[in-house]
Amino acid sequence: MDKLKILMIICDGIGDRPTAELKNRTPLQYAKRDNLDRFAREGICGIMDPIGVGIRPGSDTAHLSLLGYDPNEVYTGRGPFEAAGLNVDVRPGDVAFRCNFITVDEKLKVVDRRAGRIKSGTHELAKSIDGMEIDGVKILFKEGVEHRGVLVFRGKALSPYVTDTDPHAEGVMIKKAKALAEAANITASVLNEFIARSYKILNDHEVNIKRMKVGKKPANMIVTRGAGIVPHTKNIKERYGLRGTCVTGIPLIKGICRTVGMDAVEVDGATGGVDTDMTAKVKAAVRALKTYDFVLLNIKAPDIYGHDGDAFGKVKCIEKIDKALGILKDECKETIIALTADHSTPVIVGDHSGDPVPIAIIGKGVRIDDVKNFDEISVAKGGLGRIKGLDLMPLLLDLANRSKKFGA
Ligand code: ZN
Ligand code: ZN
Repeated sequence: MDKLKILMIICDGIGDRPTAELKNRTPLQYAKRDNLDRFAREGICGIMDPIGVGIRPGSDTAHLSLLGYDPNEVYTGRGPFEAAGLNVDVRPGDVAFRCNFITVDEKLKVVDRRAGRIKSGTHELAKSIDGMEIDGVKILFKEGVEHRGVLVFRGKALSPYVTDTDPHAEGVMIKKAKALAEAANITASVLNEFIARSYKILNDHEVNIKRMKVGKKPANMIVTRGAGIVPHTKNIKERYGLRGTCVTGIPLIKGICRTVGMDAVEVDGATGGVDTDMTAKVKAAVRALKTYDFVLLNIKAPDIYGHDGDAFGKVKCIEKIDKALGILKDECKETIIALTADHSTPVIVGDHSGDPVPIAIIGKGVRIDDVKNFDEISVAKGGLGRIKGLDLMPLLLDLANRSKKFGA
């Protein structure tokens, strides 16, 4: 059998619950869905618990699980994935943190947790504190969007088990990092020293002096949260023999994919917001399949409407996805395509829930069940039954004729 390629389409947060506004239907049930239904009609359907029954997944932990990496083993915090999403070259054993530039007064009391919503100058500020070495630990710092940034520690015997220095409030002192385990003593002390040194550098930095001259708040302090360690795991090339890439406007998802050895395709118009150019993203995924064995396409918009509690917005967004997926009809003949989600984001919850997500798989040789509609209720009667996120990669590898036989 020829090896097939694999396309995983993740409609972020598309799963939902019955909603009074939609006459007790889910947004998927309510929406007009020609192309989504084609997946159900021409393939095998089911429901999937991205992490486990009743577990409310984050987008990061869910994506790890769908890629075959158990988040209970490889996920300690969001830091490393944020850093990888900002193109920082994180390596196994590195500890990374999410950071904010903030404004503190001379007593180190927090005046503004976003440093006056700083928009420019953070690149220069980041440069000034990047590359330090403290007690044998090499320190990398990179700015993100607006007041955000990432901090990476590289060295021996580092641990992610340290407390946040971000007090998550204003008008209070910034916190000292504390070790939550003995193995984290070095990490905590290096972190506290880094924060003290960077305050001195940032407080006197030209960018901040200029800001203060025009009445703006200085970005004179760094606070950290979300510490995590880059896991020692085999990448997807080593594990599955796949060359993979992702199409997503979300740096965190890019970071997850990079961490497991995938590339990331940049797409003009892929914003990761509700205004994203979905057709451009689908086209980019199809193009990527020419050079890669495996492509993950994340479409973020349904999740945003779920968080906003906007039922009709989510319906419209699903109809837009339905249109955009139309171009897959004649493409991808040599590809196994899975259409699913990383979690449900029900509009009546306004956040992620543990409800299982719909899944449909189409492609050469895939068994076709009796399900005709791609919605949460219809697909539950399908041939896949109820699977876990960690089952997805083995399932797709088998259908793509890329699995090894277990036994003789
Ligand atoms: Zn998500
Ligand atoms: Zn979300």
